Amino acid sequence: MISVVIPAYNEEESIPHLYKKLKEVLDKLGGEYEIIFVDDGSDDRTPEILKDIAKKDRTVKVIRFRRNYGQTAAMYAGFVHASGDVIITMDADLQNDPEDIPRLLEKIQEGYDIVSGWRKDRKDPFLSRKLPSMIANWIISKVTGVKLHDYGCTLKAYKAEIAKRYRLYGDMHRFLPALAKRFGAKVTEIPVRHHPRIYGKSKYGIGRTIRVILDIFLVKFLNEYITKPLYVFGGVGFLMFFVGFLIEAYLTFLKIFLGEDIGDRPLLILGVLLILTGVQLFSTGVIAELIIRTYYESKGERPYVIEEKINLDEGET
Ligand code: UDP
Ligand code: MG
Repeated sequence: MISVVIPAYNEEESIPHLYKKLKEVLDKLGGEYEIIFVDDGSDDRTPEILKDIAKKDRTVKVIRFRRNYGQTAAMYAGFVHASGDVIITMDADLQNDPEDIPRLLEKIQEGYDIVSGWRKDRKDPFLSRKLPSMIANWIISKVTGVKLHDYGCTLKAYKAEIAKRYRLYGDMHRFLPALAKRFGAKVTEIPVRHHPRIYGKSKYGIGRTIRVILDIFLVKFLNEYITKPLYVFGGVGFLMFFVGFLIEAYLTFLKIFLGEDIGDRPLLILGVLLILTGVQLFSTGVIAELIIRTYYESKGERPYVIEEKINLDEGET
């Protein structure tokens, strides 16, 4: 069964067209499916239109948010409520093309866990959208090691087993393939069509750039250091402490053996600062370790994902 998850925020004009096209494609596939629209607190006629569609068509399911929580929350809610084996996400604004869905599914059939759409011929303004996105994709690929041309394309297919593992906050929807590295997901990409926006307005501007950069650090941390924060904080802390210690040892030598005055030397203050900051970072690392342990224990989550069990019962012993 296939679940299509569509976040929608003020997309009243696009939705009826999208619904019709999507329906054709899904019917042609022949299998079971559901379409989950997540109305992210729209203040236009999006909710009414969705309710109308859902009344006539039982395959259409609607989740309505009380207010606008953002695209990440909308997609997360879709993942949580999806009952398909494969989950497809796409935008509600007709920029993604439902005709690409069969090709995404083929790749899933080949054994990939995530198939990402690549808007090779993207129909958005160059300076404000395509250029920042090219740079961001390059950095994310480098930093996380999951190489994709187009993280920002919502049109993607996920095995439900992977999508259901996500715990999403903030603006993490842009990093889903990179985040899935934690679960050992096999990721690939295929070129997909992209259309200019005809109805409504884009919900994002250039303002997201700084947030994206901060998020890259977060993803890197979540992927590689989430179970060992002490290495990050403690590592830097230890280095600072060590340099500070050397500085103070040197000054102590000058004072005791050569009788020089050291009270008014900037180096003295730098040394003290490094030692103090070093100790503090180290303690932060220890505290972060405690928090991480509480995090996993309280949720009954394990810091690993098992691919297969042989001759073992399903449950844990
Ligand atoms: N969206 C949403 N909540 C938001 C912002 C956007 O659900 O707070 C939806 C929006 O309706 C669309 C998709 O996310 O279906 C992508 O948004 P948009 O087309 O504005 O982004 P762009 O294509 O310009 O990057
Ligand atoms: Mg769009």
